Amino acid sequence: MSPVLTWLQCVRCSERFFRNARLYLCPHCGGLLDVQYDLDALRDRVSFERFDERLGGFQPWERSGVWRYKELVAPEADIADLVTRGEGNTMLYDSPSWLVAFTGHKLLQLKHEGENPTGSFKDRGMTSGVTQAKQMGAHAVICASTGNTSASMASYARLSGLQGVVAFPAGKVALGKIAQAVAYGATCLEIDGDFDVAQHLVLQAASQLSIYMLNSVNPYRLEGQKTIMLEMLQQRRWKVPDWVVVPGGNLGNSSAFGKAFIELYALGLIKRMPRIAVVQAEGASPFYHSWKDNFRARQSMKAETIATAIRIGNPTNYDKAIRTIERTGGLVVCVSDQAIMDAKAMIDAAGIGCEPASAASVAGVRQLVEAREIKTHEEVVAVLTGHLLKDPNAVIDYHSGMLAGLVPQYANQIHQIPADFDALAAWVAKPTTPAEP
Ligand SMILES: *Cc1c(COP(=O)(O)O)cnc(C)c1O
Ligand SMILES: [Zn+2]
Repeated sequence: MSPVLTWLQCVRCSERFFRNARLYLCPHCGGLLDVQYDLDALRDRVSFERFDERLGGFQPWERSGVWRYKELVAPEADIADLVTRGEGNTMLYDSPSWLVAFTGHKLLQLKHEGENPTGSFKDRGMTSGVTQAKQMGAHAVICASTGNTSASMASYARLSGLQGVVAFPAGKVALGKIAQAVAYGATCLEIDGDFDVAQHLVLQAASQLSIYMLNSVNPYRLEGQKTIMLEMLQQRRWKVPDWVVVPGGNLGNSSAFGKAFIELYALGLIKRMPRIAVVQAEGASPFYHSWKDNFRARQSMKAETIATAIRIGNPTNYDKAIRTIERTGGLVVCVSDQAIMDAKAMIDAAGIGCEPASAASVAGVRQLVEAREIKTHEEVVAVLTGHLLKDPNAVIDYHSGMLAGLVPQYANQIHQIPADFDALAAWVAKPTTPAEP
């Protein structure tokens, strides 16, 4: 028998469980579960050279921006079970001059997770989550979702031959995301209630029916999401930035990033930690309020924000995200919908583009620079979580001034002109809008 490299471990009571046990929470204390590794045994198997070599590999899994780091994602998974679309491999942009002017910060890079196969970072968690479902012999997978999780799960479930069942809150999911779940052939259930209600029902289904749950409480998803940071570091030639700034909804990424840095540090692959800043929307900021209160009490709220992907009132990964903040000397900020949409307009107009929730990270950078929390000489990586086309309505509504209570400060209007050459020529002569800030 080969030695055990991977197990599930409760973050609260530290009890350990078999890696293929179908558990989502600790059966003893109800705590969240981590996938943990025998890092001493893995130390000889991980190296920068090995990760670099795989970039030129010819196996699809070697080329994947998740499975390239297989030793730190699922060291014991069979290669034949890996369900991959070559996810990851997303751009790390140097901030264009527009965003330097907008944020007031030069040393800013953008890691664009909207460039994944289904248009969000959720693919990194789904490739690992659906692979785990296969390892466990599941026939069907289920999730509750603000949209991107269902789009991604629908795709990876079909690719691997599993049934996918998605439950989303009625009327609260962006068009592009529903369209994907329908198109990829998932069983789509629109639930008369908010996300937290949908999630509760799905938890019940997972405990009473024979179906594997892939909500962000699922610890295997976070293992895939860790690779956002691994890939970012590989792109930076393993130079750790001073800050990583990420939007926070269910706090899966926030948790996964912290875990990634803790493991890399323990393995000796990095010599210091970045500070992780989690950015919430004002109308969905329970984690921010807990942080302000020194995490004395867990908070929840009725969530409302235009950034539907982070419209979450009671974040699942609360305990793990606290670990991230504490271990990295991080912090939490919250930004208004106005700040989110203005930042989005600037990211979009820089030619990069993202969905509203993603822009929270750049709005957060701007706020932290203004508050002098981020210093001029510090290197910042902000994560853009989803693709511009996920939420086309938000784009059109912003630029046409249709968003209630919001001022489109950087509007780019569509001009109606007659079918006339001179009318066209007059617009060609004008400078583009919006102007550089
Ligand atoms: C899911 C999602 C988030 C929220 O991420 P968490 O890990 O739940 O905090 C943010 N942005 C986009 C685009 C998402 O799809
Ligand atoms: Zn426990």
